[in-house]
Amino acid sequence: MAQKDDRVLLLNAPRLPLEDAKLEELTGDLHDFAHANGLVMRLSTDKLSSEVCQTTPLTLLPSPFPKNVFDEAVHLQNLYASLYHYIAYDFDFLINIHKNVVKTDDFTRNMVDILKKVREQGLKQPITLAIQRSDYMCHKDQHSAEYGLKQIEINNIASSMGAHAQRLTEWHIRILRALEVPEDVIKRAIPENKPIPMIAEALFKAWSHFNNPSAWVLVVVENVNQNQIDQRHVEYELEKLGVPMVNIIRRTLTQCYEQLSLNDASDLMIDGRPVAIVYFRAGYSPDHYPSNKEWEARERMELSTAIKTPWIGLQVANTKKAQQVLSEDGVLERFIGKPREARDVRASFAGMWALENKDEVTSKVIQGARKHPDAFVLKPQTEGGAALHTGEEMVQMLRELAEEERGAYILMEKLRPMIIENYLVLAKKPITFAKAVSELGVYGYAFGAKDAPELKTAGHLLRTKPESTAMGGVAAGHAVVDTPFLYEFI
Ligand code: ADP
Ligand code: MG
Repeated sequence: MAQKDDRVLLLNAPRLPLEDAKLEELTGDLHDFAHANGLVMRLSTDKLSSEVCQTTPLTLLPSPFPKNVFDEAVHLQNLYASLYHYIAYDFDFLINIHKNVVKTDDFTRNMVDILKKVREQGLKQPITLAIQRSDYMCHKDQHSAEYGLKQIEINNIASSMGAHAQRLTEWHIRILRALEVPEDVIKRAIPENKPIPMIAEALFKAWSHFNNPSAWVLVVVENVNQNQIDQRHVEYELEKLGVPMVNIIRRTLTQCYEQLSLNDASDLMIDGRPVAIVYFRAGYSPDHYPSNKEWEARERMELSTAIKTPWIGLQVANTKKAQQVLSEDGVLERFIGKPREARDVRASFAGMWALENKDEVTSKVIQGARKHPDAFVLKPQTEGGAALHTGEEMVQMLRELAEEERGAYILMEKLRPMIIENYLVLAKKPITFAKAVSELGVYGYAFGAKDAPELKTAGHLLRTKPESTAMGGVAAGHAVVDTPFLYEFI
């Protein structure tokens, strides 16, 4: 599965490629398994209905991933959850670091404006919940040729794909058995993967804390969502924990504007009952706010007693800008008191630079990116895998961006992920055996009041895409869902 030039020895891993007959049999089994277990998505041609679904884009086999790099990502998750929990409450920091972003980025400006209102009026709900997924690549250092963990980004909102990843791990165990990989190897190579019970547990804690059996769990959704089944698995798990099915409602931000109100006690009311939790599975993209109404709905939520996941502080902390500023000297260390922990988190940062400063370092980095477009990527603040600028397009943007637009972008070192080989399975398309690269995400939560968050890490996702594809994102159609096959260098 891994390339020979990476000097990787994958003892007992299946030998690839598989024989045609075996491949056909296993692929057929995979589609059965996917449909029998809800590892499915809506059709891209009919995103409004689940009547006919298709197998989620995925890999037939797990992809090799170094165990030490995986363990590091798991180790870091509680540190990241705690870090963002604390940053979210630092209003001055958040407002200050986005002062140039908001000049041209309307979406971030609207978020920051709501944050300012929350600061003025005070938090009506002191308890907050972050359900997170931190994403990394297993990056090959150009000088040492060693693999190490480097963060791509963190997701404090709508962290998705956990239900698929959890189910795909079950399939990957199954296929390794079918290929006669010994049970002890499977046990070592395939780590337990249960993000959905953890996410449901976090939501259940928040709902129970609200302490009103008739209170709602409000899931904020997009008008149209091809990946609705992934969200539904979270709701079903939450029902198993004891939230009555009838208390869980799904609404778009536009519907929220029409149906939600604040009462005198700042409770967020719908149909005469308060909302205990607002669980955002939408709200991270400008398209989710087609008019001022949706922003008004968001503001009402933020000024209410409902527990939001995420609350506005956490979402403003989630920008690429905040990620870049944290990497500047001494900034991360203001939020993580223990030097060893700060060192571990910092070691996972890739190189990141602001564009708006007029110092020598900035102009050198920009010159460097224009000269070596293959070594950098340019990122705006948007979420959702739609806007990564690379190569000549990046060079052109660096040349043409107006002075006041520069603050809304960050420049990032382009990571060189480990190259593996795997079968990519896309419904109704021929299966392909491709050289591919993976991005690892680790799920976790931080729940509680400002000074005492409860932290937990559980479950992971690998997203794998052909080596030649620059962007990521399963929903965006670039990558497929995968899980890691852990190995150790020997
Ligand atoms: P989004 O919020 O849109 O998901 P990301 O930062 O995750 O933004 O970037 C989208 C995708 O672009 C990632 O999934 C990854 O495949 C690719 N990408 C992002 N940053 C880098 C980087 N520094 N080096 C290489 N690829 C990157
Ligand atoms: Mg991403």
